[in-house]
Amino acid sequence: MREYEAVIGMELHIQLKTMTKLFCSCPVESESEANTLICPVCAGFPGTLPVLNEEAVKLAVRTALALGCGVNRISIFSRKNYFYPDLPKGYQITQYEHPLAENGKLIMGNRAIRIRRIHLEEDSGKLIHTKDATLIDLNRAGVPLVEIVTEPDIRSAKKAYTYIIRLREILRYIGVSNADMEKGEFRCEPNVSVHRKGEPFGTRREIKNLNSIRQVEESLRYEIEQQINMLEKGKKIRRATLLWDVKEKITREMRMKETEEDYRYFDEPDLPPLCIPDSFISEQRNYIGELPEERRERMHKQYGLPCNDVDTLASRKALADYFEDVIKITKDPRLTAGFILVELLGFLNENSIKIENNPISHEHLSELITLMKKGIITRTVARSILPQIGEGKPPTKVVKKLGLEKIEGKKVIDNIIQDILNEYVDEVKRYREGKSGLFDFFVGEVMKTTKGKANPRVVGKLLKEHLNKI
Ligand SMILES: [Zn+2]
Repeated sequence: MREYEAVIGMELHIQLKTMTKLFCSCPVESESEANTLICPVCAGFPGTLPVLNEEAVKLAVRTALALGCGVNRISIFSRKNYFYPDLPKGYQITQYEHPLAENGKLIMGNRAIRIRRIHLEEDSGKLIHTKDATLIDLNRAGVPLVEIVTEPDIRSAKKAYTYIIRLREILRYIGVSNADMEKGEFRCEPNVSVHRKGEPFGTRREIKNLNSIRQVEESLRYEIEQQINMLEKGKKIRRATLLWDVKEKITREMRMKETEEDYRYFDEPDLPPLCIPDSFISEQRNYIGELPEERRERMHKQYGLPCNDVDTLASRKALADYFEDVIKITKDPRLTAGFILVELLGFLNENSIKIENNPISHEHLSELITLMKKGIITRTVARSILPQIGEGKPPTKVVKKLGLEKIEGKKVIDNIIQDILNEYVDEVKRYREGKSGLFDFFVGEVMKTTKGKANPRVVGKLLKEHLNKI
């Protein structure tokens, strides 16, 4: 059997979180009216000169360091020449032969994906296609990007997906980008070829127009299949740029790939070489701190939590910080992790609140979890009062005011159960006749009557006793 192998490389463009554009002082915003954030520099008027944004260099250096790259003390800006209506100058300022940083890696489990290079460049404008015209919005022209290029080290669509997730976590941890794919702050262009194991690499094709990480995985899976079919039929694979058709879920050939010579790169004459002193680099190193993978490992060891829990908790820095603040007070990792992952995240999700804007202070959440731990309230009650706590009310006061303390007395629960069984005579009869599904109905009624204040396990146990007696 001839076994095929896919070889995938990834180019990612990430929008840096700066206040202003890369070469002018126009603000960077995503929701302004078209063509309101432009000036003669980013609109490409003749005679204007670019001035490099220091903040963008800082964030790019920080990105390079977090990915283990060597930062070049001198890098050079180049012009990449091509004509396209969204490119006002007729060229893009980027870095070519002498990029900002090289030779890094991103660790994924027991494998490392090598990073070939990271460089700074400016974004282009945006074309908006309407029914009878194509409009140009230059608000995005000149917005700072870093491009992160891997070596062809990825071997499956699934791994490509994981690579992007892990990289995005890092970018968010170190605060260089929001990396929101829907807003175009994070764009990927994978290239893929297939070959038989042991033979030279095949011809690679690049996929564009991917708007979600899922689409990256889907399109790669499709294209790998496609290329294997072509080779099986003895067809030759042409180098090409492909577009992902979201509706049909297929790749379409867009154009033959330009070769590098077509861009006629040359050094940007309006910008001096970018010289980065050691002090600049060490300053950025200080901002990095613990990265997601290290944090997962430490949290796993320190709190003895299952990998799945740690995986989610450490996926956002704000979430991991919050968890660790709460745990310092509750000193109960399992209960705390469980409550945060299920109840708190559920509450935030329902209200479309990001963890970064979580309205519940870690002190209040700790207090709530401690009330649960001491057996004063049930988890159901704890979950139900999250909205009030989100308004800043202290849990103990909310519980007191609403009388939500757990009902523990067997007698009290017994009475409630008896009342309910008396009320639903028909249902009891049907239950006795074999409709066992009604048991959950009875539990639900008891929980409703007690407003979630009884322990569901105790209710279940007592309810069984009552029903068996009838
Ligand atoms: Zn401008």
